[in-house]
Amino acid sequence: MSAVSPSRVLVLNSGSSSVKYQLLDMSDNARLAVGLVERIGEETSRLKHTPLHGGGETREWNGPIADHEAALKAVSAELAKDGLGLDSPELAAIGHRVVHGGRHFTEPTVIDDAVLAEIERLIPVAPLHNPANLTGIRTAQALRPDLPQVAVFDTAFHTTMPESAARYAIDVKTADEHRIRRYGFHGTSHAYVSRATAELLGKDPSEVNVIVLHLGNGASASAVRGGRCVDTSMGLTPLEGLVMGTRSGDLDPAVIFHLARVGGMSTDEIDTLLNKKSGLIGLCGDNDMREIRRRVDEGDEQARLAFDIYIHHLKKYIGAYYAVLGTVDAVAFTAGVGENAAPVRQAAVAGLEQLGLAVDEELNAARGDRPRLISPESARVAVAVVPTDEELEIATQTYALVGKNN
Ligand code: AMP
Repeated sequence: MSAVSPSRVLVLNSGSSSVKYQLLDMSDNARLAVGLVERIGEETSRLKHTPLHGGGETREWNGPIADHEAALKAVSAELAKDGLGLDSPELAAIGHRVVHGGRHFTEPTVIDDAVLAEIERLIPVAPLHNPANLTGIRTAQALRPDLPQVAVFDTAFHTTMPESAARYAIDVKTADEHRIRRYGFHGTSHAYVSRATAELLGKDPSEVNVIVLHLGNGASASAVRGGRCVDTSMGLTPLEGLVMGTRSGDLDPAVIFHLARVGGMSTDEIDTLLNKKSGLIGLCGDNDMREIRRRVDEGDEQARLAFDIYIHHLKKYIGAYYAVLGTVDAVAFTAGVGENAAPVRQAAVAGLEQLGLAVDEELNAARGDRPRLISPESARVAVAVVPTDEELEIATQTYALVGKNN
């Protein structure tokens, strides 16, 4: 038995060539360190590490980092400089963000061989993300085989959707054979933000209906009834739904046949077009909302049209999810655009007074990093800005699963 009661959780978000990490102490939810390794496998890899307890300075290291194992070892070495290394007895668990958990994983799950096999089986529906997540998990397991490793799935929060929302209206047999259905993503954020919104209203999540608008470079909306997701805008993949930084969001599926038959494009070319060269960047050449707003303010017509299309789709989802929920207690804006872009929030609810939605200009313009209301006091429906915290949510879920056993 260790003399120390382990209360730290390392959160890992492993991409194909990057690892983002945060070390948290769950006794008070304090962040002890945050960092990022990028361009893994290249000559110009970079590690950026910021110790957050004791006021340490950000440290950067540039040079080749061959693979994820080398990356995690480098992270551990950085953490060790502040007495927080991966070998510390105070580390209770490692929580991994896993993008696709299919229908199988409805909750955070302690990883064993069967769980790894299932995440692997889901690679065909998440070809970019799940392999990278698996590499991160296997590397962490090799470094600390004795430690519980927990998978927290982006899809899990959405597994409560009814079949009427989750099924596409295509041939059932074909859909089932290829596991085609709406899975939804950003679930950790939607879970965290819907709960934090209920808290802001002074209510239990089971008592409120919330429309969550996660507007980052990727963007998704969800309808949450009494703490459970009943619909979400991303589908089989994160391409569906709202207009995003580089993804098209909703379009007529026949656009794809047209591009293939008439445009002579290959499947891979269309995939790249819709995922990487569409959305805001396709419409106006910029995907950063700050830049788009600057251009709009200067009278740039192309940027104005991109902004208007973005808002048009956002508004349609607010209306759709209002109808899905029947009664709405709050609309919550989150992520990079949702938390920072007051003009987006204002435009998204403009004209929806009949639905009880409005923003107060002054409250909307004020900045802050705490959850806050931006609707006028008299408003029937609360409009809120709720900063998301996916790492804290992953750490909380991980610790809830393993902490009690320590
Ligand atoms: P995320 O994916 O949540 O990190 O969000 C990234 C996006 O947030 C960026 O592409 C920007 O478009 C947007 N963003 C960040 N800060 C601001 C800001 N101050 N005003 C408008 N948009 C912002």
